[in-house]
Amino acid sequence: MTFPEQWDDGTDPSSPEHQIHWYDDRTAIIRQSLRTNFEGPFIYLLLGDERALLLDTGTGHAQLRPVVEELLTGQELIVAHTHSHGDHVGGDAEFDTVVGKSAEEVAAYFGFADWPEGVVEFDLGGRVLDIVPIPGHHASHIAVYDRNTRVLFSGDSLYPGRLYVFDWPAFRASVARLAEFVADGKPVEWVLGAHIELTTEPGRDYEMGEAKHPDEHELQLHPDVLTELAAVVAEAGEEPVRIERDHFIVYPV
Ligand SMILES: [Zn+2]
Ligand SMILES: [Zn+2]
Repeated sequence: MTFPEQWDDGTDPSSPEHQIHWYDDRTAIIRQSLRTNFEGPFIYLLLGDERALLLDTGTGHAQLRPVVEELLTGQELIVAHTHSHGDHVGGDAEFDTVVGKSAEEVAAYFGFADWPEGVVEFDLGGRVLDIVPIPGHHASHIAVYDRNTRVLFSGDSLYPGRLYVFDWPAFRASVARLAEFVADGKPVEWVLGAHIELTTEPGRDYEMGEAKHPDEHELQLHPDVLTELAAVVAEAGEEPVRIERDHFIVYPV
């Protein structure tokens, strides 16, 4: 289980459109270069024995399908999203089997009877994922827990950056449910989100739309940061409030 020394932070103009890093032999982390779009989203490919899950398709400003096909080893590819904002579904048209974008479509595909309550198992073949609905940043948002690697994929709901909260009550409830899910016997090694918007200086973010990210914060967050997020939003109460911490900024919009 490794992370690169440094992610493509946009400072090298000759960098590839996607930086690929194998976290382990069945988990690829793909970063879309900041020079193709300032969002520089992280995309995850999880390989199972029978199926592979591509989590997000990026902004659509760089061709993704050929990159993904190179990484597959014969699995059927399923494309789903952490949520349906444009910087995570932009490459959808390149792919054949894509889970729908609305919360209803996501609930129907994974088989949620009472969205956003409950957790659904999703088996890739020898690799079981738990899908946890976490609306608040977006109505269709899910977190994905990988029992094999003990990684929690958190999309735009938790990453080192500005956590834009569009629905405050939903976000508070989701973060509490996610923290409870983890505390209830799902140990987390790392929390991996979809962007980096903080510098190595605690709590300091880049300007919105910045094309280069010198001295980026690490992608991976310690599981304690989820506990911290749950605590601070619970404590904040019912009115949306901006909360600046070392590893994230809660940012109501
Ligand atoms: Zn988003
Ligand atoms: Zn995003």
